[in-house]
Amino acid sequence: MNNFTYLRATDVSSAVSLIAANSSQDAAARFLAGGTNLVDLMREGVEKTHALVDITRAPLSDVQELPHGGVRVGALVRNSHLAGHPLIRDRYSLLSQAILNGASAQLRNMATTGGNIMQRTRCYYFYDTASRCNKRAAGSGCDAIEGFNRIHAILGTSPHCIATHPSDMCVALAALDAIVNVMGPSGERSLPFSEVHRLPGNDPQMDTNLQPGELITSVDLPASAARLSSVYRKVRDRASYAFALVSVAAAIKIDNGVIQEVRLALGGVAHKPWRATIAEQLLRGVAPTSENFVKAAAAELAPAIPRRGNAFKPELAKRTITSVLSELTAKEGAGQ
Ligand code: SF4
Repeated sequence: MNNFTYLRATDVSSAVSLIAANSSQDAAARFLAGGTNLVDLMREGVEKTHALVDITRAPLSDVQELPHGGVRVGALVRNSHLAGHPLIRDRYSLLSQAILNGASAQLRNMATTGGNIMQRTRCYYFYDTASRCNKRAAGSGCDAIEGFNRIHAILGTSPHCIATHPSDMCVALAALDAIVNVMGPSGERSLPFSEVHRLPGNDPQMDTNLQPGELITSVDLPASAARLSSVYRKVRDRASYAFALVSVAAAIKIDNGVIQEVRLALGGVAHKPWRATIAEQLLRGVAPTSENFVKAAAAELAPAIPRRGNAFKPELAKRTITSVLSELTAKEGAGQ
Protein backbone atom coordinates (compact mmCIF):
# COMPACT_ATOMS: atom_id res chain seq x y z
CA MET A 1 0.00 0.00 0.00
CA ASN A 2 1.30 3.50 -0.86
CA ASN A 3 1.61 6.19 1.76
CA PHE A 4 -1.33 8.57 1.70
CA THR A 5 -2.63 11.60 3.54
CA TYR A 6 -5.82 11.12 5.59
CA LEU A 7 -8.14 14.13 5.81
CA ARG A 8 -11.53 14.43 7.43
CA ALA A 9 -14.51 16.53 6.30
CA THR A 10 -17.56 17.25 8.41
CA ASP A 11 -19.81 18.65 5.69
CA VAL A 12 -20.29 18.39 1.94
CA SER A 13 -18.72 21.69 0.95
CA SER A 14 -15.55 21.09 2.96
CA ALA A 15 -15.32 17.56 1.48
CA VAL A 16 -15.53 18.94 -2.07
CA SER A 17 -13.01 21.70 -1.26
CA LEU A 18 -10.55 19.25 0.31
CA ILE A 19 -10.71 16.99 -2.73
CA ALA A 20 -10.14 19.94 -5.09
CA ALA A 21 -7.27 21.29 -2.98
CA ASN A 22 -5.54 17.89 -2.87
CA SER A 23 -6.01 16.86 -6.51
CA SER A 24 -4.07 17.72 -9.63
CA GLN A 25 -4.49 16.67 -13.25
CA ASP A 26 -2.21 13.67 -12.64
CA ALA A 27 -3.23 12.68 -9.12
CA ALA A 28 -6.73 12.69 -7.70
CA ALA A 29 -7.62 12.53 -4.03
CA ARG A 30 -10.51 10.16 -3.19
CA PHE A 31 -13.59 10.35 -1.01
CA LEU A 32 -13.65 7.64 1.66
CA ALA A 33 -16.98 6.39 3.05
CA GLY A 34 -17.47 2.71 4.00
CA GLY A 35 -14.19 1.83 2.28
CA THR A 36 -15.37 -1.70 1.45
CA ASN A 37 -14.05 -1.51 -2.12
CA LEU A 38 -11.62 1.41 -2.12
CA VAL A 39 -9.47 0.09 0.72
CA ASP A 40 -9.20 -3.32 -0.99
CA LEU A 41 -8.12 -1.60 -4.19
CA MET A 42 -5.48 0.37 -2.31
CA ARG A 43 -4.17 -2.75 -0.60
CA GLU A 44 -3.91 -4.52 -3.96
CA GLY A 45 -2.01 -1.60 -5.49
CA VAL A 46 -4.77 -1.00 -8.05
CA GLU A 47 -5.77 2.35 -6.55
CA LYS A 48 -2.79 4.55 -5.75
CA THR A 49 -4.28 7.75 -4.45
CA HIS A 50 -2.06 10.00 -2.34
CA ALA A 51 -4.94 11.49 -0.29
CA LEU A 52 -8.21 10.27 1.21
CA VAL A 53 -10.97 12.59 2.39
CA ASP A 54 -13.10 10.80 4.98
CA ILE A 55 -16.71 11.96 4.55
CA THR A 56 -18.35 9.68 7.10
CA ARG A 57 -19.07 12.62 9.44
CA ALA A 58 -20.95 14.61 6.78
CA PRO A 59 -24.73 14.81 7.41
CA LEU A 60 -25.79 12.47 4.60
CA SER A 61 -27.29 9.57 6.56
CA ASP A 62 -31.02 10.31 6.39
CA VAL A 63 -33.85 8.62 4.55
CA GLN A 64 -36.59 11.23 4.07
CA GLU A 65 -39.94 11.49 2.34
CA LEU A 66 -40.04 14.00 -0.51
CA PRO A 67 -43.06 16.33 -0.90
CA HIS A 68 -44.61 14.49 -3.88
CA GLY A 69 -44.39 10.96 -2.54
CA GLY A 70 -40.82 10.05 -3.44
CA VAL A 71 -38.02 9.25 -1.02
CA ARG A 72 -34.53 10.80 -0.72
CA VAL A 73 -31.73 8.51 0.44
CA GLY A 74 -28.58 10.17 1.80
CA ALA A 75 -25.35 8.99 0.22
CA LEU A 76 -24.02 7.76 3.57
CA VAL A 77 -27.02 5.60 4.44
CA ARG A 78 -25.60 2.13 5.05
CA ASN A 79 -26.87 -0.64 2.79
CA SER A 80 -28.27 -2.67 5.71
CA HIS A 81 -30.13 0.36 7.11
CA LEU A 82 -31.58 1.17 3.70
CA ALA A 83 -32.76 -2.39 3.03
CA GLY A 84 -34.57 -2.49 6.37
CA HIS A 85 -35.98 1.02 6.40
CA PRO A 86 -39.81 0.98 6.65
CA LEU A 87 -40.24 3.52 3.81
CA ILE A 88 -38.11 1.42 1.48
CA ARG A 89 -39.62 -1.91 2.48
CA ASP A 90 -43.11 -0.50 2.04
CA ARG A 91 -42.72 1.51 -1.19
CA TYR A 92 -39.61 0.17 -2.92
CA SER A 93 -39.34 -3.47 -1.94
CA LEU A 94 -37.40 -4.09 -5.17
CA LEU A 95 -34.55 -2.05 -3.69
CA SER A 96 -34.65 -3.91 -0.36
CA GLN A 97 -34.61 -7.26 -2.15
CA ALA A 98 -31.67 -6.26 -4.34
CA ILE A 99 -29.58 -4.94 -1.46
CA LEU A 100 -30.15 -8.07 0.61
CA ASN A 101 -28.93 -10.16 -2.31
CA GLY A 102 -25.58 -8.35 -2.30
CA ALA A 103 -22.36 -9.03 -0.38
CA SER A 104 -22.57 -10.22 3.25
CA ALA A 105 -24.30 -8.82 6.33
CA GLN A 106 -20.96 -7.43 7.59
CA LEU A 107 -20.27 -5.66 4.30
CA ARG A 108 -23.82 -4.30 4.06
CA ASN A 109 -23.35 -2.82 7.54
CA MET A 110 -20.33 -0.84 6.32
CA ALA A 111 -21.14 -0.11 2.66
CA THR A 112 -22.94 3.13 1.83
CA THR A 113 -25.43 4.09 -0.85
CA GLY A 114 -22.98 6.39 -2.62
CA GLY A 115 -20.14 3.90 -2.32
CA ASN A 116 -22.25 1.10 -3.72
CA ILE A 117 -22.86 3.20 -6.84
CA MET A 118 -19.16 4.07 -7.14
CA GLN A 119 -17.78 0.55 -6.58
CA ARG A 120 -15.56 -0.83 -9.30
CA THR A 121 -15.73 -4.00 -11.34
CA ARG A 122 -14.72 -7.34 -9.83
CA CYS A 123 -12.98 -8.46 -13.05
CA TYR A 124 -10.14 -10.71 -11.81
CA TYR A 125 -7.63 -9.12 -14.18
CA PHE A 126 -8.43 -5.63 -12.92
CA TYR A 127 -7.29 -6.70 -9.44
CA ASP A 128 -4.23 -8.61 -10.68
CA THR A 129 -1.58 -5.99 -11.34
CA ALA A 130 0.48 -8.55 -13.31
CA SER A 131 -2.31 -8.75 -15.94
CA ARG A 132 -3.07 -6.48 -18.85
CA CYS A 133 -6.11 -4.34 -18.12
CA ASN A 134 -7.25 -1.23 -19.98
CA LYS A 135 -9.37 -0.14 -17.04
CA ARG A 136 -6.41 -0.13 -14.63
CA ALA A 137 -3.77 0.98 -17.15
CA ALA A 138 -5.26 2.61 -20.26
CA GLY A 139 -3.90 1.16 -23.49
CA SER A 140 -2.30 -1.92 -21.88
CA GLY A 141 -4.78 -4.46 -23.31
CA CYS A 142 -7.46 -6.71 -21.86
CA ASP A 143 -6.56 -10.19 -20.66
CA ALA A 144 -10.21 -11.02 -19.98
CA ILE A 145 -11.29 -11.11 -23.63
CA GLU A 146 -9.34 -14.31 -24.35
CA GLY A 147 -9.05 -15.33 -20.72
CA PHE A 148 -11.31 -16.56 -17.95
CA ASN A 149 -14.48 -14.60 -18.58
CA ARG A 150 -17.33 -16.46 -16.90
CA ILE A 151 -18.49 -13.37 -15.00
CA HIS A 152 -17.97 -10.91 -17.82
CA ALA A 153 -20.31 -8.80 -19.93
CA ILE A 154 -22.28 -9.76 -23.02
CA LEU A 155 -24.09 -6.48 -23.76
CA GLY A 156 -22.61 -3.07 -24.55
CA THR A 157 -19.03 -4.38 -24.52
CA SER A 158 -16.14 -2.90 -26.48
CA PRO A 159 -12.92 -4.40 -27.87
CA HIS A 160 -11.18 -2.69 -24.92
CA CYS A 161 -13.16 -4.02 -21.96
CA ILE A 162 -15.82 -6.63 -21.16
CA ALA A 163 -16.13 -5.96 -17.42
CA THR A 164 -19.44 -5.93 -15.56
CA HIS A 165 -20.70 -3.58 -12.88
CA PRO A 166 -20.93 -5.69 -9.71
CA SER A 167 -23.75 -4.01 -7.78
CA ASP A 168 -27.16 -5.52 -7.04
CA MET A 169 -28.52 -2.32 -5.53
CA CYS A 170 -27.78 -0.39 -8.71
CA VAL A 171 -29.82 -2.80 -10.84
CA ALA A 172 -32.87 -1.96 -8.73
CA LEU A 173 -32.08 1.78 -8.88
CA ALA A 174 -31.91 1.55 -12.68
CA ALA A 175 -35.33 -0.12 -12.81
CA LEU A 176 -36.77 2.46 -10.41
CA ASP A 177 -35.53 5.44 -12.48
CA ALA A 178 -33.70 6.88 -9.51
CA ILE A 179 -32.07 10.30 -9.68
CA VAL A 180 -28.55 10.81 -8.35
CA ASN A 181 -27.72 14.19 -6.80
CA VAL A 182 -24.11 15.33 -6.74
CA MET A 183 -22.10 18.30 -5.51
CA GLY A 184 -18.83 19.32 -7.11
CA PRO A 185 -16.52 22.26 -7.61
CA SER A 186 -19.05 23.75 -10.07
CA GLY A 187 -22.03 23.29 -7.75
CA GLU A 188 -24.94 20.84 -7.53
CA ARG A 189 -26.52 18.81 -10.30
CA SER A 190 -28.75 15.76 -10.73
CA LEU A 191 -28.34 12.83 -13.12
CA PRO A 192 -30.90 10.21 -14.15
CA PHE A 193 -29.58 6.85 -12.92
CA SER A 194 -29.23 5.59 -16.50
CA GLU A 195 -26.63 8.32 -17.11
CA VAL A 196 -24.48 7.73 -14.06
CA HIS A 197 -22.54 4.69 -15.30
CA ARG A 198 -20.84 4.40 -18.68
CA LEU A 199 -20.32 1.68 -21.23
CA PRO A 200 -16.60 0.96 -21.76
CA GLY A 201 -16.22 2.26 -25.34
CA ASN A 202 -12.71 3.59 -25.92
CA ASP A 203 -12.28 4.76 -22.32
CA PRO A 204 -12.91 1.78 -20.02
CA GLN A 205 -10.86 3.45 -17.29
CA MET A 206 -13.88 5.72 -16.73
CA ASP A 207 -16.72 4.00 -14.89
CA THR A 208 -19.11 6.92 -14.49
CA ASN A 209 -20.08 10.30 -15.90
CA LEU A 210 -19.29 12.09 -12.64
CA GLN A 211 -16.86 14.96 -13.12
CA PRO A 212 -13.56 15.04 -11.18
CA GLY A 213 -14.19 16.05 -7.58
CA GLU A 214 -17.96 15.46 -7.64
CA LEU A 215 -19.49 13.78 -4.60
CA ILE A 216 -22.79 11.87 -4.60
CA THR A 217 -24.90 13.48 -1.88
CA SER A 218 -28.21 11.61 -2.23
CA VAL A 219 -30.38 9.39 -4.39
CA ASP A 220 -34.04 10.20 -5.07
CA LEU A 221 -36.58 7.44 -5.63
CA PRO A 222 -39.52 8.75 -7.66
CA ALA A 223 -43.11 8.47 -6.50
CA SER A 224 -44.03 6.93 -9.87
CA ALA A 225 -42.03 3.81 -9.00
CA ALA A 226 -43.56 3.31 -5.54
CA ARG A 227 -45.55 0.21 -4.57
CA LEU A 228 -45.20 -1.60 -7.88
CA SER A 229 -45.34 -5.37 -7.76
CA SER A 230 -41.67 -6.30 -8.05
CA VAL A 231 -39.11 -9.09 -7.91
CA TYR A 232 -35.31 -9.09 -7.80
CA ARG A 233 -33.78 -12.41 -8.79
CA LYS A 234 -30.07 -13.12 -8.74
CA VAL A 235 -28.50 -16.16 -10.37
CA ARG A 236 -25.03 -16.92 -9.03
CA ASP A 237 -22.53 -19.72 -8.58
CA ARG A 238 -23.24 -20.17 -4.86
CA ALA A 239 -26.16 -19.29 -2.63
CA SER A 240 -24.61 -16.27 -0.91
CA TYR A 241 -21.69 -13.88 -1.03
CA ALA A 242 -21.20 -14.16 -4.78
CA PHE A 243 -21.62 -11.70 -7.62
CA ALA A 244 -24.42 -12.19 -10.11
CA LEU A 245 -23.93 -14.23 -13.25
CA VAL A 246 -27.23 -12.66 -14.26
CA SER A 247 -29.73 -10.73 -12.19
CA VAL A 248 -33.11 -9.30 -13.06
CA ALA A 249 -34.96 -6.44 -11.37
CA ALA A 250 -38.54 -6.30 -12.56
CA ALA A 251 -41.68 -4.39 -11.66
CA ILE A 252 -44.99 -4.64 -13.44
CA LYS A 253 -48.51 -3.31 -13.41
CA ILE A 254 -51.29 -5.21 -15.17
CA ASP A 255 -54.75 -3.78 -15.82
CA ASN A 256 -57.60 -5.51 -17.66
CA GLY A 257 -55.30 -8.31 -18.80
CA VAL A 258 -52.78 -5.91 -20.35
CA ILE A 259 -49.32 -4.79 -19.15
CA GLN A 260 -49.74 -1.10 -18.33
CA GLU A 261 -46.30 -0.55 -16.91
CA VAL A 262 -43.13 -2.60 -16.85
CA ARG A 263 -39.65 -1.86 -15.55
CA LEU A 264 -36.85 -4.26 -16.29
CA ALA A 265 -33.14 -4.02 -15.54
CA LEU A 266 -30.37 -6.61 -15.72
CA GLY A 267 -27.21 -7.11 -13.68
CA GLY A 268 -24.13 -9.20 -14.44
CA VAL A 269 -24.39 -8.61 -18.19
CA ALA A 270 -22.87 -5.18 -18.86
CA HIS A 271 -20.42 -2.51 -17.73
CA LYS A 272 -23.42 -0.69 -16.22
CA PRO A 273 -26.76 -1.79 -14.79
CA TRP A 274 -28.60 -2.63 -18.00
CA ARG A 275 -32.06 -1.14 -18.46
CA ALA A 276 -33.89 -3.55 -20.79
CA THR A 277 -35.63 -0.87 -22.85
CA ILE A 278 -36.14 -3.07 -25.92
CA ALA A 279 -38.02 -5.67 -23.89
CA GLU A 280 -39.99 -3.01 -22.02
CA GLN A 281 -41.14 -1.45 -25.28
CA LEU A 282 -42.34 -4.80 -26.60
CA LEU A 283 -44.18 -5.61 -23.36
CA ARG A 284 -46.12 -2.37 -22.83
CA GLY A 285 -49.72 -2.74 -23.93
CA VAL A 286 -49.65 -6.49 -24.59
CA ALA A 287 -51.05 -9.44 -22.66
CA PRO A 288 -48.75 -10.90 -19.96
CA THR A 289 -48.25 -14.26 -21.68
CA SER A 290 -45.22 -16.54 -21.78
CA GLU A 291 -45.01 -16.05 -25.55
CA ASN A 292 -44.74 -12.29 -25.15
CA PHE A 293 -42.17 -12.63 -22.35
CA VAL A 294 -40.02 -14.99 -24.44
CA LYS A 295 -40.24 -12.65 -27.44
CA ALA A 296 -39.29 -9.58 -25.42
CA ALA A 297 -36.39 -11.34 -23.68
CA ALA A 298 -35.07 -12.66 -27.02
CA ALA A 299 -35.17 -9.16 -28.54
CA GLU A 300 -33.29 -7.68 -25.58
CA LEU A 301 -30.56 -10.29 -25.76
CA ALA A 302 -30.28 -10.33 -29.56
CA PRO A 303 -27.26 -7.95 -29.60
CA ALA A 304 -25.37 -10.02 -26.98
CA ILE A 305 -21.76 -10.94 -27.75
CA PRO A 306 -20.86 -13.92 -25.57
CA ARG A 307 -17.29 -15.13 -25.03
CA ARG A 308 -15.95 -18.64 -24.51
CA GLY A 309 -16.43 -18.59 -20.73
CA ASN A 310 -19.85 -16.92 -20.63
CA ALA A 311 -21.60 -18.39 -23.67
CA PHE A 312 -24.36 -19.54 -21.32
CA LYS A 313 -25.32 -16.00 -20.30
CA PRO A 314 -27.69 -14.95 -23.11
CA GLU A 315 -29.86 -18.02 -22.57
CA LEU A 316 -29.65 -17.68 -18.80
CA ALA A 317 -30.69 -14.02 -19.02
CA LYS A 318 -33.62 -14.82 -21.33
CA ARG A 319 -34.87 -17.59 -19.07
CA THR A 320 -34.49 -15.48 -15.95
CA ILE A 321 -36.41 -12.56 -17.48
CA THR A 322 -39.20 -14.88 -18.61
CA SER A 323 -39.40 -16.62 -15.26
CA VAL A 324 -39.42 -13.39 -13.24
CA LEU A 325 -42.14 -11.85 -15.41
CA SER A 326 -44.24 -15.01 -15.08
CA GLU A 327 -43.82 -14.90 -11.30
CA LEU A 328 -44.87 -11.25 -11.20
CA THR A 329 -47.89 -11.92 -13.39
CA ALA A 330 -49.01 -14.71 -11.07
CA LYS A 331 -48.52 -12.37 -8.08
CA GLU A 332 -50.53 -9.63 -9.75
CA GLY A 333 -53.29 -12.14 -10.59
CA ALA A 334 -53.37 -13.37 -7.00
CA GLY A 335 -53.73 -9.79 -5.79
CA GLN A 336 -56.73 -8.96 -8.01
FE1 SF4 B 1 -9.58 -4.80 -17.46
FE2 SF4 B 1 -12.03 -4.55 -18.43
FE3 SF4 B 1 -10.39 -6.27 -19.52
FE4 SF4 B 1 -11.28 -6.72 -17.06
S1 SF4 B 1 -12.50 -6.70 -18.89
S2 SF4 B 1 -9.17 -6.97 -17.83
S3 SF4 B 1 -11.49 -4.65 -16.28
S4 SF4 B 1 -10.13 -4.06 -19.47
